[in-house]
Amino acid sequence: MSAASNHFFHLATPGIRKLQPYLPGKPVAELEREYGISGAVKLASNENPFGPSPLALAAARQVLEDLGRYPEGSGWLLTGRLARLHGLERDWVTLGNGSNDVLDIIARVFLTPAHEAVFSQHAFAVYPIAVQAAGARACVAPAHDGSHGPAYGHDLDAMYKLVGPDTRLVFIANPNNPTGTWLESDALEAFISSLPAHVMVVVDEAYFEYVDKPGYPDTSTWLQRFPNLIVTRTFSKAYGLAALRIGYALSHPDVADLLNRVRQPFNVNAVAQAAALAALDDSQHLQDCVERNHAGMQQLTAGFRKLGLPYIESAGNFVALQTGRGAERYEALLQRGVIVRPVANYGLPDHLRVTVGRADENARLLAALQQVLA
Ligand SMILES: *Cc1c(COP(=O)(O)O)cnc(C)c1O
Repeated sequence: MSAASNHFFHLATPGIRKLQPYLPGKPVAELEREYGISGAVKLASNENPFGPSPLALAAARQVLEDLGRYPEGSGWLLTGRLARLHGLERDWVTLGNGSNDVLDIIARVFLTPAHEAVFSQHAFAVYPIAVQAAGARACVAPAHDGSHGPAYGHDLDAMYKLVGPDTRLVFIANPNNPTGTWLESDALEAFISSLPAHVMVVVDEAYFEYVDKPGYPDTSTWLQRFPNLIVTRTFSKAYGLAALRIGYALSHPDVADLLNRVRQPFNVNAVAQAAALAALDDSQHLQDCVERNHAGMQQLTAGFRKLGLPYIESAGNFVALQTGRGAERYEALLQRGVIVRPVANYGLPDHLRVTVGRADENARLLAALQQVLA
């Protein structure tokens, strides 16, 4: 039955009816089943190919002994540890079931059908989902065309122009997924300073730990100055804990209080809390992963240049490369056992987003690309 003729479809709220569901990367097992192949490689979901710290794994295993209990609802140990990490108090932290959960909570706290949220073209796909699920209007600013800033990157002037009396939220991904583009400190700070008091600004720093670009800000250090700022972070990317679903927001305590009213009492499970806590104690593992990512990024981009493929310079653990005819190239790579991410749904039909993998996985991708382009 098509959506339009579906009785229940008409019962849904208007925002939900217009929603496009989030398209996750194809799982390896699904590809192998469908294509009858084995040894496939997934470079499609910006996961850390080296996984979590062994300390995090050990802590997670220990909690398995006590799965009959509800998790600690306030996340006491972890919120305390995160507060210490960021030089804040515990009441500045809101835990989420992944940072996507936090983004959704933020939208539910600040948006109604009478309100608007602003974000950029090519921005992370969860923003429109959270905004429309809350029934609010999404105002999408055109990205830079390359003449006044990095092509495909957030154009803060264009975003500012969309801020009006009904705007309650601005979402900024720094760096952005899937483009990998990032904003520097001065420009971002000036933008946040210029926002009217009725607008909350969310800076999504899911890839923070990976970034080594000059001028890249740690906006968690701006929270005391900007009470309308919310910073989100996650354990899904550099910390390698994507499967456990855990992220958090940092904000003024008055904002955190609102977020915590909407947050489900046990939104972060006990295994995730314990693993995240232990992961924070293994800075060596984190540093190793970040260094290997940089090496992998060099390997991939050198390979792309050799193949004559343009790509968008990225601050994250992924890179969008311009193969032309993204859907076709995606399919051809699947046939060679390599899963990447088509990004036509982000307005980038000529690009594919590739996650930086292990050296052998990156080599597999480059070899497959060479065949596909031949
Ligand atoms: C991956 C990602 C997230 C984090 O998702 P989780 O829910 O924490 O797994 C948030 N924002 C962006 C831009 C991302 O790419």
